[in-house]
Amino acid sequence: MSEITHRTKTRKVKVGPLTIGGSNELFIQSMTTTKTHDVEATVAEIARLEEAGCQIVRVACPDMRAAEAIPEIKKRINIPLVVDIHFNYKLALKAIEGGADKIRINPGNIGKRANVEAVVNAAKEKGIPIRIGVNAGSLERRILEKYGYPTADGMVESALYHIKILEDLDFHDIIVSLKASDVNLAVEAYEKASKAFDYPLHLGITESGTKFSGSIKSAAGLGILLHKGIGNTLRISLSTDPVDEVKVCRELLKTFGLASNAATLISCPTCGRIQIDLIKIANEVEEYISTIKAPLKVAVLGCAVNGPGEAREADIGIAGGNGEGLLFKHGEIVRKVPEDTMVEELKKEVDKLAKEHYAK
Ligand code: SF4
Repeated sequence: MSEITHRTKTRKVKVGPLTIGGSNELFIQSMTTTKTHDVEATVAEIARLEEAGCQIVRVACPDMRAAEAIPEIKKRINIPLVVDIHFNYKLALKAIEGGADKIRINPGNIGKRANVEAVVNAAKEKGIPIRIGVNAGSLERRILEKYGYPTADGMVESALYHIKILEDLDFHDIIVSLKASDVNLAVEAYEKASKAFDYPLHLGITESGTKFSGSIKSAAGLGILLHKGIGNTLRISLSTDPVDEVKVCRELLKTFGLASNAATLISCPTCGRIQIDLIKIANEVEEYISTIKAPLKVAVLGCAVNGPGEAREADIGIAGGNGEGLLFKHGEIVRKVPEDTMVEELKKEVDKLAKEHYAK
């Protein structure tokens, strides 16, 4: 496994049993698409997200019905629950009372000081953090007037404004996001924020698009930040099933050597030398290893001419041959396997290696 990229140090903030920031680990977050008051549907979706590898889940809390559903949802899930509130401090109080592990609310948007104090005191009492969510599309009017349009400096200024409100009440369990749908703007805002304060950052490119275009857009933006060691939690926002958001997050973390518990697929692009139906096999193996919680590199290659050597870093792999497949480890061929069973053979070897890893 490649080395974990250097991470920018931040304060540590607890979200349920997880410690965000201050260490190397990044956590994958997603958001439900169900009506939060529909407990059955929400819990079912969270179960699917958990299974896919989601580590923190956020639910929208637009009304009291949603806030009242929090205790029951909380009881039936296994990962920390973040409750997202806009403007209404009473919903925040209800969510905190109901067991939210974190709330997302901007303290500058909930009216008079007494409201802010009530929310901060409740969060302090329960020991839960508050995420300040700055969004380029909804900056404070005075900041927009000052800069003329959404800028990275304006976004950081907005974050600092909300942070100061909390700090003045001696509240420091803060996580900040600075989302924009413009990738360059979001990257610049996060870079500046990482220098302006040391609270953990939740990364995201907002309204990034569909599964295909949004994944590319998010990976492009978040990739720059991850490479620089910026970010402590992340969400890929996509107009699709949120399980896909989690899968893309995992893939992105794996790309940067930031996931210590996931298997990676290496597959060749195919060419005229191909001797097996590689595209079908690659998809099948990718699906199979998606639930493996060990840092294995698994290769599937179209032929044995260059294949095993090209995939030298793979822990295990198969290469197509004439009517048979070759099983190889770290670039060395181990044995021949019949073509029609080679995928099954590979899966068995993957399971064996994963078991060895779990036993360590
Ligand atoms: Fe072509 Fe073989 Fe390389 Fe795949 S492994 S790209 S089939 S040479």
